[in-house]
Amino acid sequence: MKPRVLSGMRPTGALHLGHYHGALKNWVRLQADYECFYFVADWHALTTHYEEPGVIEKNVYDMVIDWIAAGLDPEQCTIFIQSRLPEHAELFTLLAMGTPLGWLERVPTYKDQIDKLKDRDLATYGFLGYPLLQAADILIYKASFVPVGEDQASHVELTREVARRFNHLYGRGASFEAQTAAAIGKLAKDDARYLEKQRKAFGETGSAEALAKGEAIVKKAATSIAGWSEADSELLMGHLRGAGRTILTEPQALHTEVTKLPGLDGAKMSKSYGNAILMRDEPAEVAKKIRGMMTDPARVRRTDPGNPEKCPVWDFHKVYSDAPTRDWVWKGCTTAGIGCLECKQPVIDAIVKEQQPWRERAEKYLANPKQVHWIVEMGTERARIVARQTMKDVREAMGLNY
Ligand code: ATP
Ligand code: MG
Repeated sequence: MKPRVLSGMRPTGALHLGHYHGALKNWVRLQADYECFYFVADWHALTTHYEEPGVIEKNVYDMVIDWIAAGLDPEQCTIFIQSRLPEHAELFTLLAMGTPLGWLERVPTYKDQIDKLKDRDLATYGFLGYPLLQAADILIYKASFVPVGEDQASHVELTREVARRFNHLYGRGASFEAQTAAAIGKLAKDDARYLEKQRKAFGETGSAEALAKGEAIVKKAATSIAGWSEADSELLMGHLRGAGRTILTEPQALHTEVTKLPGLDGAKMSKSYGNAILMRDEPAEVAKKIRGMMTDPARVRRTDPGNPEKCPVWDFHKVYSDAPTRDWVWKGCTTAGIGCLECKQPVIDAIVKEQQPWRERAEKYLANPKQVHWIVEMGTERARIVARQTMKDVREAMGLNY
C-alpha cells in the first residue's frame, strides 16, 4: 500500500503559472508514488471570501479542470470537494474543544495574513480557526504526508500536536488496556517479555534504541503471526510509547523542490497583485502580457546595454530557458546585442508550449462539464468512505457512540 498524501487548493480565482510551478506540478509528480487525495478547499476560501461566495462557486469546477489539464489523473488520485464531506466540520468541532487558543494565535501565517490582506476584515473566528480546520482535513484521512511550502510547515506542526493531544486524551480507555493485553497475549512469550523490557526502558530513559527494538517486535508479529491485525500493531505501538492508541495519525511535512514563480513585475506571481499569467491565457494574451513587461529601467534605448539581474524577464528565463538561450540573453542584453522584444520571444514561446497540452486536455472537459462533475462525484464518494470510518473511530474513542 502506498502512503497517503493530502493537499488542497482554495478556489478563489483562475489558476496561474505560479500555482502550476509552486504546487500542481508537484501534485502530478506525487501521483505515482503515493495514494493522493486532492481537494477543493471551498470552506477555506470562505475564510477570506465570506462576503463574496459567488467567486468560489465560479471557480470550483474550473479549478478541477485546470488540475486535470495539468496532468492529474482521476484514475490515479482522488479529487473531491471539502464541503461535500460534512465529516470535516464534525472533526473540526470536536478537535476545537480541546485546542488551546494560544496554539492558533501563535501560527505565523495568522498575523502575516491579517497584515497582508488589510482590505478584508479577518478578525473572525473562522480565520483564526482555519489551521485547525486544515488539521481536521488532514487527520480525517490519516494522511502520512502533506506537501508544503515553507510558510505552511507550521500548519503541519500544529496538526501533529493536535493529533498527539487527541490520542493522549482519548486513546486510553479501559478497553485500551484490555485490548492491549489481548494483543500481547498473541505474541510468543519471549517476545512479550522483551517488548515489556523495551517499553520500560523507553519510559524511563527515552532511549530511541529501546523504542526501535520494541517496534521491531511489533513489525515481526505483523508479518509472522496469523490473525494479527493492523489494530493490534497500532495498540502495541501506542503501548510501547506510553501514548495510548493511535486514533489520529501524525502526518509529516513532505518538503519537495518547488519553484517560486515571479510575476510580470518581478514580485511573486499572485492574482491579487495583478501580475499573473493564467494557465488558461490564450497564446495572444501571453504574448501581450510578456511584451508589455517592464525591463531594466536603465535600458532606455535599444543601444543601451542592460543588466539582466535588474530585469523581471530574466527571472522567467531562469525558469523557462535552457543554458544556451540564457547565455544568448545574457550576452545580448549586457552588450546591447539584442533588443528587449527579441529577448522576450523565447519566454513567450516556452510558456505557450508549456500550456499546449493543458489546452488540449482541458478542451474535452470544458465541452463536457458533466464528466468533470462525475469525476468529482466519484472522488468524493471514495473520500467519504475513509472520512466516515475515521469519524466512527473518533466518536467511539470519545464515548460519543451512545
Ligand atoms: P494568489 O496568491 O494568486 O492570490 P491564492 O492566495 O489563492 O492565490 P495561494 O494559497 O497563495 O493561493 O497558493 C496556492 C498554492 O500555490 C500554494 O501551494 C502556493 O505556494 C502556490 N503558489 C501560489 N503562487 C505561487 C507562485 N507565484 N510561485 C510558486 N508557488 C505559488
Ligand atoms: Mg497567495
